[in-house]
Amino acid sequence: MPLHIAVVGAGLVGLGAAISLGRQGHQVDIYEKSRFAHEVGAAIHVGPMAQRCLASWGLDLEEMKPVESVTLSRISVTDDHSEDMHLVSPAKLGLPERQLMVHRVDLHQLLLKSAQEQPTVAIHLGCAVKSVDPAGRITLADETVISADIVVGADGVHAISVGAVDEVDGPAPAQQTMYRFLLPAETARGHPVARRALDKWVYSDRLIDHADFEGARHVVIYPCRNNTLLNGAVMLPIALDPRADELEDAWNNPGTPSDILEVIHDFPEEIKALVSLAEDVKHWRSVNRECPKTFIRGKLVLVGDSAHPMKPTFGAGAGIGIEDAAVLGLLLGRDTGPEDVPRALEDYNRLRYERGVTVKYASEPPEAAEASSAPPADTLRKLADAGVPKDMIGYLLGEDALEQARRVVDGSGG
Ligand SMILES: Cc1cc2nc3c(=O)[nH]c(=O)nc-3n(C[C@H](O)[C@H](O)[C@H](O)COP(=O)(O)OP(=O)(O)OC[C@H]3O[C@@H](n4cnc5c(N)ncnc54)[C@H](O)[C@@H]3O)c2cc1C
Repeated sequence: MPLHIAVVGAGLVGLGAAISLGRQGHQVDIYEKSRFAHEVGAAIHVGPMAQRCLASWGLDLEEMKPVESVTLSRISVTDDHSEDMHLVSPAKLGLPERQLMVHRVDLHQLLLKSAQEQPTVAIHLGCAVKSVDPAGRITLADETVISADIVVGADGVHAISVGAVDEVDGPAPAQQTMYRFLLPAETARGHPVARRALDKWVYSDRLIDHADFEGARHVVIYPCRNNTLLNGAVMLPIALDPRADELEDAWNNPGTPSDILEVIHDFPEEIKALVSLAEDVKHWRSVNRECPKTFIRGKLVLVGDSAHPMKPTFGAGAGIGIEDAAVLGLLLGRDTGPEDVPRALEDYNRLRYERGVTVKYASEPPEAAEASSAPPADTLRKLADAGVPKDMIGYLLGEDALEQARRVVDGSGG
């Protein structure tokens, strides 16, 4: 008899969980407060393990219109000194996958389509969840109460589900703001100065990080959507952002190219020319939120940013969340009955807790440490008795979450 599973939130990870659990034949209902009318989002990196999880769900990765990322160029703003840091090739770690850059909306669309195609998955849009109970109940905004064998909290950094698992600090405004923008590659190529940036840094397979290392301002630009679109992000400490105090706590506060040009007035002309053409400018103040002491309580399990809200630093938050979703699906296989749920959720917590909190705290930028009561590495030691891995790239890219879960399921270890 399949399980009935309620998923709170249909972001990348909630949809992933629904696909992963739906493929096991479970009856999945996803409750999402938005209607996806104005999906926003910049491009993100999708690393080898996330790709492996997506492929295990039968998804065609080419539908994400990916661009392979080979090089990270870090360029100093003051003296034009540049370092080409070749990103560690997954092949060096014996992995067949590539490093991919995709537009978040393209990945979301692919997951949404796949979830909609699953016969046992139902998506309820415009359906805010008001409260979550570890006994396996959720209450919707219209007071409807739904009971399930499992509730998956996939409701992001502002999750209500996390409060039902543990008391955590935050979310609170962080010390960093970010402008994000998109720009059709053709528009950039048609501009005499902006095209020099593309010619100079051969943008098609690389991420350009133009940094003012002293002031910690970064302009990061990379391509996505089959190389037809450029994605830009401008990161600033709040002290250097005259508009930081006006920001609402939302991803999609509007901005303009001139707002960005004001804060990067001393950056090279080519970069400013690219920014002057920016479309769909959004301004955002990131938030800090701690992790709970566990990802499970009763019939409630946390996945993605709800469990471990990530900063963009390692470009790994969505990937780790997609791993959570895939592992959950493997542990709650076709034959799992309600009596097996506690054991499966314990296994999930054992496999995912240390990895989630390690990547979260290791990727906290230094300004987050200033704002919180303890440096991230101390918090990590306290929560998971773990340190920051010496080989962080190997840890991010090479840990095979799917294999670990399969070993638990077949009893061979993990
Ligand atoms: C600027 C930036 C760049 C990034 N770059 C990368 C990258 O390169 N690679 C990478 O892997 N990660 C990256 N990340 C991290 C990544 O975007 C997140 O970790 C990931 O999107 C989290 O997905 P999620 O589904 O857990 O949460 P979310 O995407 O936040 O989704 C949560 C969903 O739950 C819904 N919801 C919330 N509350 C309720 C409620 N009460 N009832 C019903 N629905 C609710 C929301 O509407 C939303 O749809 C980046 C993050 C940022 C901010």
